[in-house]
Amino acid sequence: MPELPEMETYRKLLSERLSGKEISRVTINREKSINLESKSFISKVQGARVEAIHRRAKHLIFKLSTGDSLLLHLMLGGWMYVGSENDQPKRTKQVILSFGEMELYFIGLRLGYLHLLSEVELEKELADLGPEPLNGHLSYTAWQDLIGDKRGRLKTTLLDQQFIAGIGNCYSDEICYGARLMPTKQADTLDEAMQKDLYEAIQSVLQRALGFGGYMDQPLYKGDTFTGGYNKHCFVYDREGETCERCGGTICFEEVSSRKCFYCPGCQRE
Ligand SMILES: [Zn+2]
Repeated sequence: MPELPEMETYRKLLSERLSGKEISRVTINREKSINLESKSFISKVQGARVEAIHRRAKHLIFKLSTGDSLLLHLMLGGWMYVGSENDQPKRTKQVILSFGEMELYFIGLRLGYLHLLSEVELEKELADLGPEPLNGHLSYTAWQDLIGDKRGRLKTTLLDQQFIAGIGNCYSDEICYGARLMPTKQADTLDEAMQKDLYEAIQSVLQRALGFGGYMDQPLYKGDTFTGGYNKHCFVYDREGETCERCGGTICFEEVSSRKCFYCPGCQRE
């Protein structure tokens, strides 16, 4: 499932292409992916301009000139492509937004969705999310308050969107590795130095992943060599049996609370 670095990469690249552009046509091939009847959704979105694209946690928010927003969550298996009739993936598109000849395809939306919401509805939808970890939204003092009375394993703690926003299965493992802490370690057993290590790892791992364009398998547009660069730079995620770059140990895999979990037992502290 795309996480903060993947969605932020999408936000940046889509903003460059779509900001200020008018949605000339809307095609709905799967009504379950939207929250209104197709006819009503189309009449409210067609003709609107995309004024800006924001990200909150793992969501993208397309701000429309009508005052409404399109709230996107790709969930597991969802992805996007910007192309045209002659340049598009041969896959089923659940929703298509056309901008003249240029089109934005939403693919693999099974659990994922694109919902049209008013400002009030949008605010309500995002109200329970925890703080954004980057760009000064989470100060070290705020982090200490947050982690100070948290219980549970680090893996599940980092995945909890109400605790901190935007981190999923891959980056929770990468962050624990970065902090030299086992993902199974209990959050309330961290001493102050470990709390600081975890805070710094959250920032540095996510920034590094952003720099490499996240881990999505598919490019966003023809010739896109940026998206997905992080796949080659994972420390532990999906690297079971491979050698740890830091200590030379062997990377292990286990399931923690039925989530995939990768770590190095040689250099991550119990
Ligand atoms: Zn190691």
